[in-house]
Amino acid sequence: MSTPPHKARPAGPGRALPDTQQGMRRRNLSRVMHTVSAEGPLSRAAVASRIGLTRAAVSTLVDELIRSGLLEELGPERPGRVGRPGFALAVSGRGPAGIGAEVGVDHLAVCAVDLRGRVRFRAVRHVPNRGRSPEPVLGELTGLVERVVAEAEGEGLWPAGLAVAVPGLVARDARTVVRAPNLGWHDTDLGGLLPAGLPLTVANEANFGALAELWLGEDTPRDFLHVSAEVGIGAAVVVDGRLLHGNRGFAGELGHVPVRPEGPQCACGGRGCLEQYAGEDAVLRAAGLEPGEDRVGLLAGRAEQGDADVRDALHEAGTALGIALTGAVNLLDPESVVLGGALSGLAPWLLPSLRSELARRTAGPPCPVSVSPLGPEGPLLGAAHSVVRGVLDDPAAVAERS
Ligand SMILES: [Zn+2]
Repeated sequence: MSTPPHKARPAGPGRALPDTQQGMRRRNLSRVMHTVSAEGPLSRAAVASRIGLTRAAVSTLVDELIRSGLLEELGPERPGRVGRPGFALAVSGRGPAGIGAEVGVDHLAVCAVDLRGRVRFRAVRHVPNRGRSPEPVLGELTGLVERVVAEAEGEGLWPAGLAVAVPGLVARDARTVVRAPNLGWHDTDLGGLLPAGLPLTVANEANFGALAELWLGEDTPRDFLHVSAEVGIGAAVVVDGRLLHGNRGFAGELGHVPVRPEGPQCACGGRGCLEQYAGEDAVLRAAGLEPGEDRVGLLAGRAEQGDADVRDALHEAGTALGIALTGAVNLLDPESVVLGGALSGLAPWLLPSLRSELARRTAGPPCPVSVSPLGPEGPLLGAAHSVVRGVLDDPAAVAERS
């Protein structure tokens, strides 16, 4: 699947750089990269007018970015026209690539995304990971990463970093999985178990899903709640275009918000959590189906055929989601709620009861609920694009490593 180019965002790096001449140069390199990424192909003159620098200053920055392999000059901008044509600039389709990976409860996936935002290579393996120890799972993931990196290198790309989406809580060090109940992992440092030599970021899959929505979605607002699910249910809170991490980095554990305080015991130690009503296993149980592979496909297929038990189970799951989201919406007042991940495939049967529950319980006009067009691809794409965004935010750092 190809992805749209990066959306425009205010020029400037995401990280604060020192306010020195070097810091200024790095910020300006980033502004050039973001501008060409969002609006390119552009001439040097057009870049200069977009970011308010002289053409000479922009040319110096552009030359540096071309030498580093981050920008490239396309052919003449106005072929056939009289006069000396300018050369349009584009972000490089070779050079650095973001490697994204996903550890799912029953699959592993890896992809390489180039600076233009295109998925160039991918590898997926369906494998039941529930209850497997981290070593063999991450050994297999390493094999997929190495395969995708080798394919990317064959086309002149090089990996700028690896970002891994996991279905669990990740510590603020962005390497340690503190708890992934549906895998059975606790306090696992992924750093030593993945390919050495690649800068590594590990994050919760809901967070990467939300970032993908923010960066790749059409007209995504700057304040929204992103809800995604596989076996567990996660949410991410985006405030003014940034993820809310919380004190320990655990913000967004919607799946463990109580829906019925005296309800069934949950693996987290609580009772009646949302996951007990709207997680995939719970919905399958309520519908009288066995958990197996392709659980969403099974539920969607049965619901489409009009299976009353499945439709009732999804109606109840939508109601539970509406109750849990009421608290979050009242507390945070987001512009919208976006359903992503596996949940998006069941949206036609979840949304009616979810929306009516939310509308009934929240004050004021109901918060709109939409379905992510990225679907289950969101976390993997968000992971790969987070590496790409890192390159755009500080191209000088990448150029130094290349
Ligand atoms: Zn729970």
